[in-house]
Amino acid sequence: MAVRDTIFGKIIRREIPADIVYETEEILAFKDTQPQAPVHVLVVPKEQFPNIGKMDDPLLMGKLMQGCVAVAQSLGLVESGYRIVINSGVQAGQTVLHVHAHVLGGRQFLWPPG
Ligand code: 5GP
Repeated sequence: MAVRDTIFGKIIRREIPADIVYETEEILAFKDTQPQAPVHVLVVPKEQFPNIGKMDDPLLMGKLMQGCVAVAQSLGLVESGYRIVINSGVQAGQTVLHVHAHVLGGRQFLWPPG
């Protein structure tokens, strides 16, 4: 299947800049350019899957979550708390078709989400 390129693919290939905060062989994490909280980091697999439902690699899914936790730890969010969000599809508000987890922290969040 052809890989659909996105803005995150360009960030992963270092074709456009990003404020990278964490990286492994398979995962990259960088600050969101339109932060919705004092800490707002996007954690992505370097391999492109359009959404979480297409991510047919459970081990990589686990590594994505590990990446989120590592980001939260390294940015000092563990004590205060943080939120991990994965939007999938139009009604969820997904805008970039490269699966990504948002790690948000540094303020009080509401539930249910808007
Ligand atoms: P989604 O709405 O798909 O769950 O989240 C996509 C996120 O990507 C948004 O929060 C948006 O601000 C962020 N974003 C879009 N383009 C760029 C970019 O070029 N660089 C970075 N760092 N974030 C981006």
